[in-house]
Amino acid sequence: MSRALIIGAGGVASVVVNKCCQNSDVFTDICIASRTKSKCDALKNKLDGGKTKITTAQVDADNVPELVALINEYKPDIVINVALPYQDLTIMDACLETKTDYLDTANYEPLDTAKFEYKWQWDYRERFEKAGITAVLGCGFDPGVTGVFSAYAMKHYFDEIHEIDILDCNGGDHGYPFATNFNPEINIREVSANGSYWENGNWVETEPMEIKRVYDFEEVGQKDMYLLHHEELESLAINIKGIKRIRFFMTFGESYLRHLKCLENVGMTSIEPIEFEGKQIVPLQFLKAVLPDPATLGPRTVGKTNIGCIYKGVKDGKEVTYYVYNVCDHQECYKEVGSQAISYTTGVPAMIGAAMVLTGKWKKPGVFNVEEFNPDPFMEELNRFGLPWKENFKPVLVD
Ligand code: NDP
Repeated sequence: MSRALIIGAGGVASVVVNKCCQNSDVFTDICIASRTKSKCDALKNKLDGGKTKITTAQVDADNVPELVALINEYKPDIVINVALPYQDLTIMDACLETKTDYLDTANYEPLDTAKFEYKWQWDYRERFEKAGITAVLGCGFDPGVTGVFSAYAMKHYFDEIHEIDILDCNGGDHGYPFATNFNPEINIREVSANGSYWENGNWVETEPMEIKRVYDFEEVGQKDMYLLHHEELESLAINIKGIKRIRFFMTFGESYLRHLKCLENVGMTSIEPIEFEGKQIVPLQFLKAVLPDPATLGPRTVGKTNIGCIYKGVKDGKEVTYYVYNVCDHQECYKEVGSQAISYTTGVPAMIGAAMVLTGKWKKPGVFNVEEFNPDPFMEELNRFGLPWKENFKPVLVD
């Protein structure tokens, strides 16, 4: 018997809502609230009539008093933030004021600085602890499942993990020369930034897309992948015992990279406001407006994703390698919930994380990254809710 307030009504939110309805023993009531209420109503109309009671609301998640008023009126047991990273702090403020548990899938990033870091959200630790409420940060796939995989590897297979390579492969094809699989603004900010990895206690910075490797992914095939900075590197570097190196690689096709370079070269990916016909506009936000909406890619995307982590370390004095990963089929996701696999692989873990808090398995006061909780019940739910995982104890390693 729990009530969840879901903020946002985009690609990821749509999967969260579908999955909460599939888990109606836990989610008896949900409220979908977003800036554009018609999108919340459209979701409700699609899914209404089952055991989970759905309501909708309009909210500006940049506005703390509006959020507080909505939370006080709806009285949720948890707020699931699947709006944008810019809203993380205002939503956390509202949760603090109303003593409500909180979960998100992406870490805070100021609108005018393309740099995401946990420091702003980790700053809330003491206040959440004092209020006796839980915040779960970064509970999508990566970050999210990658942290749960790491906690699981640590708990069951290693005394010390020395190296982690996170491999995010999207072998999907949507047929457009250029489109992004989730919010274009957030996606382009992420991939056009400098890369970095963690080694021997320091960050090593690279040019964007400077480090390239080729990997043969099960059920997808051989792909080019590039080293990126990614938010879970920051928390895993602190939370995984004995860690010496963590890297994150994401696959990109040639067409995507060629278009991105061209857009960068002409200034379209800039977040510096410019004057256009008497109005201030941000080029990247304008670009977002002309690109395909990721929520519309579902019907046309074919192929699979394969996301997982390769670990190297020791157990009982012996060297161990371990690869744990999930393969997800874009069209299967579309058939089940009407979304492509990127939204699916993010929305399913967000629902599971919220269920972990609501059922008391991940309930403790403070602000936490997912690898700080018991991974076992979460891993079981991944199998039950559409993201089964596979293990390989002799994986091909990335050089
Ligand atoms: P979308 O752009 O599809 O959806 C975002 C939603 O948030 C929209 O409904 C939007 O409303 C709403 N929103 C934006 N600003 C506000 C506001 N001020 N007040 C209320 N609502 C607002 O994004 P996605 O669904 O693709 O992504 C959602 C989140 O998931 C992002 O934070 C993204 O970074 C994260 N993500 C995490 C991944 C992971 O593996 N951890 C992977 C992919 C995404 P409107 O419709 O009016 O624009």
